[in-house]
Amino acid sequence: MKPIIFCDFDGTITETDNIVSLMTHFVPEQSEKIAKAMMAQTISFKDGITAMFELLSTNQKDDIIQYLLETAVIREGFREFVHYAQEHNIPFYIVSGGVDFFIQPMLEKFGPFSGVYCNSADFSGEQITIVYLNSCDAQCAKFTTQSCGCCKPTVMRKVTQPDHFKIVIGDSISDFEAAKQADLVLAREQLLDHCKDLQVPYEPFNTFYDCLETVKKLIEV
Ligand SMILES: [Zn+2]
Repeated sequence: MKPIIFCDFDGTITETDNIVSLMTHFVPEQSEKIAKAMMAQTISFKDGITAMFELLSTNQKDDIIQYLLETAVIREGFREFVHYAQEHNIPFYIVSGGVDFFIQPMLEKFGPFSGVYCNSADFSGEQITIVYLNSCDAQCAKFTTQSCGCCKPTVMRKVTQPDHFKIVIGDSISDFEAAKQADLVLAREQLLDHCKDLQVPYEPFNTFYDCLETVKKLIEV
């Protein structure tokens, strides 16, 4: 068995969603309106993220990074889980709808990873502009609208080999499409409920120690 791991960042590696956390701290009122529209699905996830970051000045970059480094909590067992994957040569990809300028500094001490796929930010103007580098391929259900932002199933198709056993780890709506492509889903919260309806094998988890036990069992078979 050749496992390959695709792990979400916000709400999975970190205990809470970093975009929600930073927006609530820096631009609570304006961002809340956008968040509500996203939840009501009157705007796409991608357009919502773009609009929220436009509320922030590029001068705030360092304050945002500092704030997240001080407040975000990395889920228990992450270091050990990553270490186990490295020791066993299991490819480990981070696939996130978050943004590189805060993900990279938060992950720095845990790597190296096989790859970190997320959105990018442009600081050349007055406001922060999000750049979407991982758009939907033709096989994604959202190809015509390109509304995934960072398209997780597209990333998976790009790096997976035919004999790989695909493990998707996540917690939310942004992981639903990726979960459909998985051989095994390790799920929390919304993704866990969703997996119960999907025809894919899944296991719930709370900490990365749970994920570690699951992967251990898989490769020992
Ligand atoms: Zn897509």
